[in-house]
Amino acid sequence: MVFFFLRCDYGLPVILILKNGVSDQQIDHVIDRVESLDLKAHLSRGTFRTIVGIIGDETEIPIDSLRAIVGVEQVIPVLPPYKLASLEAHPQRSVVQVGEVKIGGGSLAMIAGPCSVEEPERMEHLAKSARQAGANIFRGGAYKPRTSPYDFQGLGEEGLKILRAAGDKYAMPVVTEVTDPRNVELVTRYADMLQVGARNMQNFVLLTEVGKSGHPVLLKRGMSATVQDLLMSAEYILSQGNSQVVLCERGIKGFDTMTRNVFDIAAVPLLASLTHLPVIVDPSHATGRPHLIPACALAGLAAGADGVHIEIHDQPEVARSDGPQALLPQQYADLAEKMRQLAALLGKHISPLNAEALI
Ligand code: PEP
Ligand code: MN
Repeated sequence: MVFFFLRCDYGLPVILILKNGVSDQQIDHVIDRVESLDLKAHLSRGTFRTIVGIIGDETEIPIDSLRAIVGVEQVIPVLPPYKLASLEAHPQRSVVQVGEVKIGGGSLAMIAGPCSVEEPERMEHLAKSARQAGANIFRGGAYKPRTSPYDFQGLGEEGLKILRAAGDKYAMPVVTEVTDPRNVELVTRYADMLQVGARNMQNFVLLTEVGKSGHPVLLKRGMSATVQDLLMSAEYILSQGNSQVVLCERGIKGFDTMTRNVFDIAAVPLLASLTHLPVIVDPSHATGRPHLIPACALAGLAAGADGVHIEIHDQPEVARSDGPQALLPQQYADLAEKMRQLAALLGKHISPLNAEALI
């Protein structure tokens, strides 16, 4: 009987499951209440359960009002609430373009760089080694969301200039985090892609602003966020008309102190089954341990990720942030070679940069 509702072309049905043993009078009451909300109700009586299918425009259906009707046990919306992000609504997979780099559709992002933007010479050196190893997007944070207000907070606009210059020197697009809605316009002037970090995944004002910017966005999963929470945050950006969103699994909180977070590898194929948006992995923040990063990066690719985001540093002991999880440039180059091989096996490729650019 449920199939009748699923096949209905008009709007999106919601299914109400009524309480066991409801009387005819209570059923009439439910139907009256539904119709008073300007919705159509289709009654279906089973031997054990009575079900009411609601027909109408899904954006107009007041789910909480339906839940409040006496006699209703469960309200089941048939489509997910992340309408724009869902694969169902958009069966063609999206490819996000950052500079000349394509993310998705078999093209992989290799994002690499230090946690924080540091002095210009170091950034140039790191951009060069990242580029030579095969990275195609250079990263570095100029605005750092730190747990302690006494820790290094980033170089601000000066850092944006340094990052841009290093990226330009090696013809790499750059991604950097924006932490404050008031800085979105400033950051878009320097960066090719805006990162919304784990701590800001549910900063809805920030999501709206990066949505309005139209710039590509790297949206990281909050450390305590469910996969659905992540998709709902993506929805904030998409609903502003910005379809350039890449999701990033970067580890969630766990109880084990041996790794920084728990790398939720299952989230990668799960997201691929729910959304058309590209998904990348960040094994640096997920593990916090350099010796675990290569295996987790390769696992991410094998699980279907559209790219890998990794922190590198030439002198991790003097890094301004996240030094203990940085890969040395040579370690990154070794990993990149394995990623190339695995990508080929999977019928994918690392999105190329202009070969003629200075290297
Ligand atoms: C970062 O990329 O340096 C960062 C702070 O990441 P996350 O938001 O995932 O912790
Ligand atoms: Mn970091």
